[in-house]
Amino acid sequence: MLIVQKFGGSSVANADRVKNVAARIAESAKTGARLVVALSAQGDTTDELIAKAQEISPKPSKREIDMLLATGEQQSVALMAMALHEIGVQAVSLNGDQAGIKASATHSNARINRISPERIVNELNQGRVVLVAGFQGINRYGDVTTLGRGGSDTTAVALAAALDADLCEIYTDVDGVYTADPRVVKNARKISAITYDEMLELASMGAGVLHNRSVELAKKFDISLVVRSSMTREEGTLIRKDSIERTLITGVAIDKDAALISIIGVENAPGMAYRVFGALAAEKISIDIILQSVGRDGAKDISFTVSRKDLPAALETLAKNKERIDYDRLTHEPKIAKLSIVGAGMESNPGVAANMFEALYNGAVNINMISTSEIKISVLIDEKDAERAANIVHDHFLSKENLNLEIFA
Ligand code: ASP
Ligand code: MG
Repeated sequence: MLIVQKFGGSSVANADRVKNVAARIAESAKTGARLVVALSAQGDTTDELIAKAQEISPKPSKREIDMLLATGEQQSVALMAMALHEIGVQAVSLNGDQAGIKASATHSNARINRISPERIVNELNQGRVVLVAGFQGINRYGDVTTLGRGGSDTTAVALAAALDADLCEIYTDVDGVYTADPRVVKNARKISAITYDEMLELASMGAGVLHNRSVELAKKFDISLVVRSSMTREEGTLIRKDSIERTLITGVAIDKDAALISIIGVENAPGMAYRVFGALAAEKISIDIILQSVGRDGAKDISFTVSRKDLPAALETLAKNKERIDYDRLTHEPKIAKLSIVGAGMESNPGVAANMFEALYNGAVNINMISTSEIKISVLIDEKDAERAANIVHDHFLSKENLNLEIFA
């Protein structure tokens, strides 16, 4: 049995927590399992290191930033090795290079290309727990690169894939993935199992529990992940290929980082959408939901959402291209929210969308735009309605007394 575990920054934030995690690792080691453990930097270490760099240079070299940030995770693995030695567990710490983690050359947003696990396997064969610094690898020039914020999750999953692990456990400060943000939705509850695709949809909407890339990798290599708390003994959430939850909807997410732009009175001719979105793409502005409608006199309106931080740049780009696109006017709504429901079960059950719209209608929530994919339905609503609407939709599909399937029984 080979298990890869990962402990996040809050789980190792101080000496007591390091000792707590060491005790848990010791427990797993006692079962006889071979153990590889990826660690994040302690607490806010990564932010503090970034702040330190800022004190010295407003725009430091990316190579040196990676060199600096990688030390955070190295502190964690060295300290954890010491904590394990204290309680009589054989352990060794390795940085990304020593662990054979080969990554792409892009500083601060590298991808793991390959892992050469010889050293790790060697250490395991000597009966040691192997502690691997998360979030880092070595590129083809022999330089340290880091994997993007939250990247230690991806280190863990990549290790699990390379070592053909039986299990990959991600320990964090929450006890699993929830049906909605518990701070917003009163009746949110822990999900026992969720599919990779559902998790990716929820993560891209800001559920934020796992690094997205780690879920993509887990999907690619079919590695079952367990997300659970390092502070409690709760069961956690299993992320895998097929769901066992017998619910249509797995989760509800709200994303308040949306702004809506409408281009009114565009000529209804080929190539107009290309002109609009080509101009925005050239400025690297990402678009989310798009809606095109035919308006008066054969002219059409094109509406779409962007992230709020991109709103000024998007408006400016469209204004600059007014002649080329040839529209009447622009309108925008800076405060819009996207409410989404996600669930693999909706693929084979027609009527989920209508059901969601009915719930929103009963709650007198106005829908501005709608977008759907196989396992997701999103609506754009006014920001002021967001929390209330999330609770309405959540309870409609997911409250205990209202479990999904019964709606369609
Ligand atoms: N320490 C890094 C960060 O704060 C990586 C991680 O925690 O996964 O983003
Ligand atoms: Mg994280």
